Amino acid sequence: MRAQPKASHFIDGEYVEDAAGTSFESLYPATGEVIAKLHAATPAIVEKAIASAKRAQKEWAALSPTARGRVLKRAAEIVRERNRELSELETLDTGKPIQETIVADPTSGADAFEFFGGIAAAGLNGDYIPLGQDFAFTKRVPLGVCVGIGAWNYPQQIACWKGAPALICGNAMVFKPSENTPLGALKIAEILVEAGLPKGLYNVIQGDRTTGPLLVNHKDVAKVSLTGSVPTGKKVAGAAASDLKHVTMELGGKSPLIVFDDADLESAIGGAMLGNFYSTGQVCSNGTRVFVQKGIKDKFLSRLKERTEKILIGDPMEEATQLGPMVSKAQRDKVLDYIEKGKAEGATLLTGGGIPNDVSGDGYYIQPTVFSDVTDEMTIAREEIFGPVMCVLDFDHEAEVIARGNATEFGLSGGVFTSDITRAHRVVDQLEAGTLWINTYNLAPVEIPFGGSKQSGFGRENSLAALEHYSELKTVYVSMGKVEAPY
Ligand code: NAD
Repeated sequence: MRAQPKASHFIDGEYVEDAAGTSFESLYPATGEVIAKLHAATPAIVEKAIASAKRAQKEWAALSPTARGRVLKRAAEIVRERNRELSELETLDTGKPIQETIVADPTSGADAFEFFGGIAAAGLNGDYIPLGQDFAFTKRVPLGVCVGIGAWNYPQQIACWKGAPALICGNAMVFKPSENTPLGALKIAEILVEAGLPKGLYNVIQGDRTTGPLLVNHKDVAKVSLTGSVPTGKKVAGAAASDLKHVTMELGGKSPLIVFDDADLESAIGGAMLGNFYSTGQVCSNGTRVFVQKGIKDKFLSRLKERTEKILIGDPMEEATQLGPMVSKAQRDKVLDYIEKGKAEGATLLTGGGIPNDVSGDGYYIQPTVFSDVTDEMTIAREEIFGPVMCVLDFDHEAEVIARGNATEFGLSGGVFTSDITRAHRVVDQLEAGTLWINTYNLAPVEIPFGGSKQSGFGRENSLAALEHYSELKTVYVSMGKVEAPY
């Protein structure tokens, strides 16, 4: 087993096993080969992880932000030094091509450590509020033990995007990766300790939907940050609400990407392809409803088909490979079902639509797929597919496309391609989503807030905005005079 970790969990600075936990296998999506065998956390492991986090947190919070930041910045350096090794692990964990993981996974985690490690001077200060002779001041204080629960599409990135702001604010984190991709987060925990993070501040435990609630419902947990689907988000937010815990919800989407007829055609097609096929379509913010203005529909579709059919599918460890398998057989079957629904409901299959026959082995491969003539009420236009399936819809007018773009319960992202700058701003102003792009798609550097509106969730990751979700304000009123009481 080529990616077997020393043990299933990482608690209090070391690998820990509890063989009483349900055993499960980690499969390499490109071949179906078993690459690791692990155990889900037992209630005893959950207790151990939370107790060690609770113990470690107070002393960590008492350090200066600069001292905490130093550890995160060192972790960023180690992640960058080991980018190749971590990217290969990410590829084994997820099946995503090394061409992507080497530029988008550990490195984006390192960016989060570097950014949050470096903001001590600016981000964590309070305010001084003059009140005549009296005054007040605010302090930004940590929440305590935070739980992070991850999805399987960006395991290392999610582990870092949640860990970095939590730690810089003075919290401890217990992180549970997705049961589909259990490996990367363990390495991140190991690296943080190597960088000088005191033991217990970043613990990783394994498990699935039965383990998550043990964390979410735990009385010593102050906050839960979930990256996952909307149905899971409702369950987790509901459970957290019963105890009034803080929550961040990074959930699914069905985002509109609007291409006006004055757009730079090649850029718009490139944006639409990146926003549907990157990570084999397993990206929450993907622009899966591509609205193309009627005047350019034919040109757009013929170039899109041509470029899509050139995508190189194959062994994810090959540098040249552009599209790897899906994360699991179950996920691929779900996507194939959606493709059948698209055909049955009358969409035109422009390209793809099945399992590629030129890729050897038992991997969970699927062709990049484009449907055209998609209408708003079709299932493939309403539900999140989470695979490489692009739906192209056409439209006549600006007001019409904005209304149709917003006609969804989701509100994660959106994009517009046009060379009319005032139109671009008018459109993004009216689209109901947390992150919007003009003349590009899906770029999410750590400097900008990322998160959803409507059913795509609440709270923001990255940027200074994330600090608000891992800390709270304490206000202190200071009187400079005597108390005047009427009695
Ligand atoms: P999922 O909802 O099935 O699982 C997400 C995580 O929640 C897993 O770790 C799972 O074990 C855990 N979980 C499941 N039920 C739980 C419960 N009742 N209590 C606690 N934990 C529970 O999602 P997935 O299939 O792993 O990931 C795909 C989904 O994630 C898609 O909908 C995608 O859009 C979304 N996603 C969102 C973002 C974002 O930033 N908005 C990023 C990546 C993925």
